[in-house]
Amino acid sequence: EWITVSDMLEEVADRFAFQLLQRNTEIFIVVEQELPTILIDRDKIDQVLDNLVSNAIKYTGDSGRIELGARKNAQNELEIFVQDNGIGIPQKDLSRIFERFYRVDKARSRNMGGTGLGLSIAQEIIRAHGGDILLESEYNIGTRVTFTIPYLAGESEEI
Ligand code: ATP
Ligand code: MG
Repeated sequence: EWITVSDMLEEVADRFAFQLLQRNTEIFIVVEQELPTILIDRDKIDQVLDNLVSNAIKYTGDSGRIELGARKNAQNELEIFVQDNGIGIPQKDLSRIFERFYRVDKARSRNMGGTGLGLSIAQEIIRAHGGDILLESEYNIGTRVTFTIPYLAGESEEI
């Protein structure tokens, strides 16, 4: 399916409208002008985005600020990121965060729901698209997850 990236990101934000309102959290969408459309498995990429935005909301207190952005990087890949100003992840946990069932600490995630599968599934989906995903975080400052999707030669068209 050929997807317009800005539409896709706006629709993710729309799916979380109620939760965002409940948490008094704002989401900002920052999309570079004139991004080519991209050929992706839309349901799968939505699954990735939903997990990343749901994490950003879950692990950010009330009155949070989430940024959802897209740009074309120097390697000619589409780069999408989800950034929050939430509780962050301690340095010691960062290397394990994409493992199945890995959650930072039971106490803080016990009441949050979820199984600890979201990031490992996201990694699987992004790799199947030929891209990669990375997570950067500072404890008590916030978290930024970035993933890439390559534009394959001849398979992208300008909008
Ligand atoms: P699931 O996604 O299966 O519902 P989950 O959200 O706990 O459960 P993951 O999405 O895989 O699982 O995330 C793994 C763990 O990484 C989380 O339990 C949480 O401890 C930490 N984490 C993920 N995203 C963030 C974030 N934005 N801020 C702080 N911690 C995070
Ligand atoms: Mg999750």
